Amino acid sequence: MKRFLTDIHLHSAFSFDSETPLDKMLSAAQKKGVDFYGASEHFNYDLIKDEKTAVEFGIDEEAYFHTARHLQEDYAGCMNVLVGAEFGFSDDKKAQENYCAIYENYRPDYVINSIHSIKGNDYYYKRLFFTEQGKQRAKKEVYGEYLRLLRQSLDAPYPYDIVGHIEYPTRYAPYDDVQITQEEFGAQIDDILKTIIQKNKILEVNSSSSGLKQDFLPSEEWLKRYYALGGRQISFGSDAHDETRILDKWEKAVEALKKIGFTYLTVPDRGEYIKIEI
Ligand SMILES: [Zn+2]
Ligand SMILES: [Zn+2]
Repeated sequence: MKRFLTDIHLHSAFSFDSETPLDKMLSAAQKKGVDFYGASEHFNYDLIKDEKTAVEFGIDEEAYFHTARHLQEDYAGCMNVLVGAEFGFSDDKKAQENYCAIYENYRPDYVINSIHSIKGNDYYYKRLFFTEQGKQRAKKEVYGEYLRLLRQSLDAPYPYDIVGHIEYPTRYAPYDDVQITQEEFGAQIDDILKTIIQKNKILEVNSSSSGLKQDFLPSEEWLKRYYALGGRQISFGSDAHDETRILDKWEKAVEALKKIGFTYLTVPDRGEYIKIEI
């Protein structure tokens, strides 16, 4: 059986935090045998608080969609290139309107809806784990807040396909045991997973897990529960920001998924959900 290699969470220099040009990412992916390449550049209206940060985290959306559509044509017949976007969810109305407008104007092939921040503050900077006085906040409080926003993000007013890197805060959390467990957050987790299933969305397995004990996010506990509740739609994304990490830990993730019972990965393409056997 031919195995189709899919990596549909990828960044390039169009994103503020990558320096690798998109054409370089694409040629590297083709060399690695990627069958479905998903460009999911950052759209960060969640992080924009003033004009200064708008420049810092923003994207030249016109240039991105224009260039990416051309490259998509160039690769037609060799590699499926999806021109997508990663929207950083925010509960701010203005940010949500901006995402709606981007969607209307550019019609990305698919959208990953991700949480990176609370009130414009990215977990990456670790400030969310501490009070203003510098005291470490309790895990229950920090993760409870994250899960509430995650639940809210599922009701985003714009179309999206994939729920991105669940457990994102664990990448940066200062706790000894960083996972968001069923034992502590069972009711919230179940509510989120059931909503993903009911809304026919795709749960992402994201292999950007440096600093963590596991190979991907969310943990296997989440994936097992999702499966038990009837969830079957999973996408794979390395979240690579340079060519070296394309398909990183693909094999490990797929093996873990198969062990749980999953038999395919899902690739969204303009509203159609393609099943890729694993
Ligand atoms: Zn992200
Ligand atoms: Zn990303």
